[in-house]
Amino acid sequence: MTYEVTVIGGGPSGLMAAIAAAEQGVKTLLIDKGKKLGTKLAISGGGRCNVTNRLPEEEVIKHIPGNGKFLYSPFSVFNNYDIIDFFEGLGVALKEEDHGRMFPVSNKAKDVVQALLNRMDELNIEVRRQTPVEAIHYGEEEHEVILKSQEKVRTKSLILAVGGKAVPHTGSTGDGYAWAKKAGHTITDLFPTEVPLLSKDAFIKNKTLQGLSLRNVNVSVLNQKDKKIVTHRMDMLFTHFGLSGPAILRCSQYAVKELRKGHRSVTIEIDALPDEKENSLLERLQSETKDQAKKTFRNVVKGLVPERYLDYLLDESEIENDEKSANISNQQLRSFTHLLKHFQVNIYDSQPIEKAFVTGGGVSIKEIVPNTMQSKLMNGLYFCGEILDIHGYTGGYNITSAMVTGRVAGMHAAWESMG
Ligand SMILES: Cc1cc2nc3c(=O)[nH]c(=O)nc-3n(C[C@H](O)[C@H](O)[C@H](O)COP(=O)(O)OP(=O)(O)OC[C@H]3O[C@@H](n4cnc5c(N)ncnc54)[C@H](O)[C@@H]3O)c2cc1C
Repeated sequence: MTYEVTVIGGGPSGLMAAIAAAEQGVKTLLIDKGKKLGTKLAISGGGRCNVTNRLPEEEVIKHIPGNGKFLYSPFSVFNNYDIIDFFEGLGVALKEEDHGRMFPVSNKAKDVVQALLNRMDELNIEVRRQTPVEAIHYGEEEHEVILKSQEKVRTKSLILAVGGKAVPHTGSTGDGYAWAKKAGHTITDLFPTEVPLLSKDAFIKNKTLQGLSLRNVNVSVLNQKDKKIVTHRMDMLFTHFGLSGPAILRCSQYAVKELRKGHRSVTIEIDALPDEKENSLLERLQSETKDQAKKTFRNVVKGLVPERYLDYLLDESEIENDEKSANISNQQLRSFTHLLKHFQVNIYDSQPIEKAFVTGGGVSIKEIVPNTMQSKLMNGLYFCGEILDIHGYTGGYNITSAMVTGRVAGMHAAWESMG
């Protein structure tokens, strides 16, 4: 027997691809090596699944710095608003949170997974769980999927939706890259993105600021000439190994790319008071210290930033906690102000790809037809999801990319198999 469409991988991209194919009325098989489908989807968004984002299409694409523009074409078929309608149609009500992020009203990622599984059932999609695929034999008319059990599955169209290499215990172990290469595809450099950063700076090693978060700060990655490569304004967190939190995750890929150029370290700069220019901040502090000369300096500047951060910056500026404002030198004041605006952390590495939220790099998009997700190199072969060289920031952008490319791949794989 030959299937019309076979999807390997039951993550968001593969589930959506199988549904889209079966909706065209073709015999569809989905294979996954996991006990359950949608394992990563079920832990996504801290178990709540940030399933998509409601920002306008332009904005969504801007938040996908890894080849987001490639998605213009698939978006014209199925976009972030279609994802919202799709889930509401399946009975999963969604709600909007900050920055356009969409979550199920129930706050349960499992509801998103279950809705997809119910739809698969409705469409009579054949599912084989706990079935690792070992190899692919590509043919002229049809392809052969070789299972670990050595059983062979024949299919007219094949969709590779096996994800990247991040968080491998969910099943995404990077198996698809070798199959893509076998079909002649280029795999661009793989790297961790949306990943915490590591530092050996003394204050990190000593755990001075461990557990402290800074709200709404500007975090920048500097190049070797101290020029800003990128800046993100969000929250961040000091940890026992370095830096984490939303602003750091967004900056991480730029830091990783700098390090991959061979530099020993890269600088992250934190501006704790991004709304005030350094000069005006200095003038303000100069006048406040003058006006309140009898108070301790610490009391005068209290409230500017969280206390633990303040104490560390005072220490670094060699200002004692009980020092009176009157005794603060201009030099000390300048140094303190400078640290508020330009606190620098040396990063020597990121956590490994296994601990990243997303895999950067993958199957080169130059070899994929954007409005069908078909391989330009092999008949009847399609790609979707994180296996592709497409990666977004956290905020619902990666699942969006997976579902949009999955939808388009599924539809076109079905049509090709019928032709
Ligand atoms: C902790 C965490 C939280 C996240 N939260 C969010 C979020 O809230 N919003 C968001 O947009 N993105 C989020 N992401 C990213 C997002 O989950 C992924 O980008 C997305 O799941 C990728 O979908 P995919 O279908 O391409 O692959 P995956 O979800 O990785 O699925 C791949 C599937 O292929 C199967 N497979 C692999 N190899 C084989 C093989 N040899 N044989 C058979 N089957 C195989 C695997 O078992 C797996 O089920 C998060 C990621 C992580 C790690």
